[in-house]
Amino acid sequence: NTFAEIDLGDALNLNIRRCKYVKPTPVQRHAIPISLAGRDLMACAQTGSGKTAAFCFPIISGIMKGNFPQRPRGLRTVFPLALILSPTRELSVQIHEEARKFSYQTGVRVVVAYGGAPINQQLRELERGVDILVATPGRLVDLLERAKVSLQMIRYLALDEADRMLDMGFEPQIRKIVEQMDMPPPGERQTMLFSATFPKEIQRMASDFLSNYIFLAV
Ligand code: AMP
Repeated sequence: NTFAEIDLGDALNLNIRRCKYVKPTPVQRHAIPISLAGRDLMACAQTGSGKTAAFCFPIISGIMKGNFPQRPRGLRTVFPLALILSPTRELSVQIHEEARKFSYQTGVRVVVAYGGAPINQQLRELERGVDILVATPGRLVDLLERAKVSLQMIRYLALDEADRMLDMGFEPQIRKIVEQMDMPPPGERQTMLFSATFPKEIQRMASDFLSNYIFLAV
């Protein structure tokens, strides 16, 4: 019933205390252990439920504890380990700000990229290295086409507000993005799909993108 009881690691637990989070919210209490156990997750959760932490904590913890192959450095292409897709610039900025607080002094670097803003500053941030990329689908497709980002090393994928992304017409971009992660060699990717609603389109996405997933409704 406390974050300290969940095995997230000392650095992350310290940051959780700094954020003044004491008790996990229901979605956190259920989603975090499922993700830490390595399972894919389909979660129906509303805004304000604490879902940002629910997908950020396992990702940050996993990257800190994980033993990942060396990533190429000094190239014009960067290789994030985790991708968080979100529908809008505002939500991406918000997730980035939270994820940065959670990853303070962990060595895990979070970068955000969204459309409707000049790409150059975002490119400079990416070139300094990225472990977790928070992005809107359109801007990420742009970065992939420019070969600025490779998704070959992605181990964690979180789709936030998936129903909203579909409403905004991002399904083709999302499919293109996920296709790049499925290119050989097939890595072990862990995927978390968050949506406020669970219509047919989201059910189809879940069966296409998740493997042997746990369904959670809070
Ligand atoms: P979210 O649903 O992720 O947008 O979170 C909604 C708000 O709740 C944000 O301001 C979070 O910082 C806050 N929050 C999330 N989890 C907790 C928690 N376990 N304890 C206190 N506040 C939290």
